[in-house]
Amino acid sequence: MARTPISVRLAKSGRFPSLDLPTKLPVFGLEGNCKSQDTNLFFSEDSSDILTAKAICVDCPILAECARWGVQFAEYGVFGGLSEKERFLIRGGKPIISLLDIEHIIQESIFILNSSAAEVALRFGVDKRTVVRWRGALRSSLEVA
Ligand code: SF4
Repeated sequence: MARTPISVRLAKSGRFPSLDLPTKLPVFGLEGNCKSQDTNLFFSEDSSDILTAKAICVDCPILAECARWGVQFAEYGVFGGLSEKERFLIRGGKPIISLLDIEHIIQESIFILNSSAAEVALRFGVDKRTVVRWRGALRSSLEVA
């Protein structure tokens, strides 16, 4: 039965993961303003703690990178000066992409882009014309990322 690969679905909806982003959190803990702060502040549900965490983020040297990472990967806490609710809205109300899914998505997109159209068509139960369309969507996403 034909199925659309998750990498293609994400590409078509403009949610293909940015592959240049680090997928591990510790880089932020080592380089960001929060490295010597109480991490409970960043994962508190108390509004004054959230404001305090956001104030720590304001002049962080990796604010933009952290925000992009957080929107994509972090469901809870303050990242890049953005709360959970703010990141949820930026994602258009869509759930985060699990870090565990990222490797699968990457491998799948590499297979679709680099294998023969016949192999891809066989694996997903579609015709070669569909594979060409999928490749276009993936390439567009990779150029934007
Ligand atoms: S932007 Fe905020 S959460 Fe991210 S590394 Fe900097 S201080 Fe930490």
